[in-house]
Amino acid sequence: MGDVTRIVIIGGGPGGYEAALVAAQLGAEVTVVDRDGLGGSAVLTDCVPSKTLIATAEVMTTFDSSYEELGIIVADDTPHIDTPARVVGVDLGKVNRRVKRLAIAQSHDITQSVTRAGVTVLRGRGRLGTGGQAADGSREVLVDAPDGSVQSVRADAVLIATGAHPRELPDAQPDGERILTWTQVYDLEELPRELIVVGSGVTGAEFAGAYQALGSRVTLVSSRDRVLPGEDPDAAEVLEEVFRRRGMNVMSRSRAETVKRIGDTVEVTLSDGTVIEGTHCLMAVGSIPNTAEMGLEEAGVKLNDWGQIQVDRVSRTSAPGVYAAGDCTGVFMLASVAAMQGRIAMYHVLGDAVQPLNLKTVASNVFTDPEIATVGYTAADVKCGKMDAVEVKLPLRGNPRAKMQGIRDGFVKLFCRPGTGIVVGGVVVAPRASELIHPIALAVDANLTVEQVASAFTVYPSVSGSTAEAARQLHIRKRDAGES
Ligand SMILES: Cc1cc2nc3c(=O)[nH]c(=O)nc-3n(C[C@H](O)[C@H](O)[C@H](O)COP(=O)(O)OP(=O)(O)OC[C@H]3O[C@@H](n4cnc5c(N)ncnc54)[C@H](O)[C@@H]3O)c2cc1C
Repeated sequence: MGDVTRIVIIGGGPGGYEAALVAAQLGAEVTVVDRDGLGGSAVLTDCVPSKTLIATAEVMTTFDSSYEELGIIVADDTPHIDTPARVVGVDLGKVNRRVKRLAIAQSHDITQSVTRAGVTVLRGRGRLGTGGQAADGSREVLVDAPDGSVQSVRADAVLIATGAHPRELPDAQPDGERILTWTQVYDLEELPRELIVVGSGVTGAEFAGAYQALGSRVTLVSSRDRVLPGEDPDAAEVLEEVFRRRGMNVMSRSRAETVKRIGDTVEVTLSDGTVIEGTHCLMAVGSIPNTAEMGLEEAGVKLNDWGQIQVDRVSRTSAPGVYAAGDCTGVFMLASVAAMQGRIAMYHVLGDAVQPLNLKTVASNVFTDPEIATVGYTAADVKCGKMDAVEVKLPLRGNPRAKMQGIRDGFVKLFCRPGTGIVVGGVVVAPRASELIHPIALAVDANLTVEQVASAFTVYPSVSGSTAEAARQLHIRKRDAGES
């Protein structure tokens, strides 16, 4: 290896561009190869667009669910909205144009900061060359440019950060008009009258909630007992209850077998033969890693049965000099985790101080209304004996600020170790839970005790007052548990 380390990063999403910035700061010669635009799917089709759409939905829900109670009067002069209780409506074409404008602007900003940092950006499809490692340890990356030319770039280390794409079912092929993946919804000019969402994981639940708030009649088809099977069960129960109360048709234990377009309608047939009709169908049945035809296995990079790249906690693959980050590894499908994995890879390869990835401090959020934010060990971890913890759950009904704001649904839940009182996890179900989880994430990260969390001032009145109260109650519970 010469004095300057040459890094080639394939994929310019959060896993790739954050790594590029770190590597450039650490003095490496960095090239990013990207097919679709910097920012990746996170910025162009997934995270950023969905959260921008949800920003409009959030205003609608807040308004719809509390305006009467808060004493607001609105003249009902929006006859095009056919939901009886509805007094305001949205122009979906306008919402979607804003969504796309913001996404492109953010991709542009990222391109600017990456190039300003001295990183070379190549447009095209990257793959590993067939030659394996050269005598000097370097590898070849081939770039298939849009004009058909192929460029070869040498690298001392390669980071694969190619993300994932929506899974499609053979009998439910998206047509981009009526049968849609989550990347296609932003071309809609009019609000779907009757939307069927297939899949009740995070993506399905977020879109189902958002379109319902925007004014669509929504049916959510869930193959499991409950929506959000991977989340805290109490949180999922609150959300499902709220969805149903607002008029969503939540179909549990129902597997969609086929989705057909018939003129301007869609028909979803479930495995028990039931047929549901709607005007549009959104498929949210998981994603597939972008790892095919990249020369990975030939280079000795091990994939699992789902095609995800196997990595260790410093993002190394099984092939020397090849690292991987983000959704293509399937470690935790979050932009924040992708970015962290990418940075860790660069710290490791460039010899900087490196902390291996710790998934037990990852904070995540489901952007429904209410939001569900989680950090650390979960109820499932406690139930299966993976973590010994005591728990307190405080419904927001008793929180003074929540009462003033007309918030009835949600809770704050904290977990702590029974002996030491160290906070090991938490769940917040509330509007803006994504903001309220941070003090709990800090506590988990810094091994704070419930006594320390309880002793910090909170503003009166505030929803975060419930976090301090939960910590106070855990202090008592843990003390009582110790005495008994
Ligand atoms: C609807 C939805 C909403 C989400 N919301 C959130 C959220 O709110 N918060 C959150 O943290 N996460 C969210 N996520 C998850 C988040 O989007 C992903 O975890 C994140 O995009 C992963 O980043 P990445 O860098 O691994 O890949 P990506 O963002 O997918 O970027 C990969 C890039 O690599 C490019 N690429 C692929 N193959 C090649 C190749 N061979 N050569 C060159 N380039 C290639 C792709 O075109 C893309 O530009 C959401 C996901 C979905 C589906």
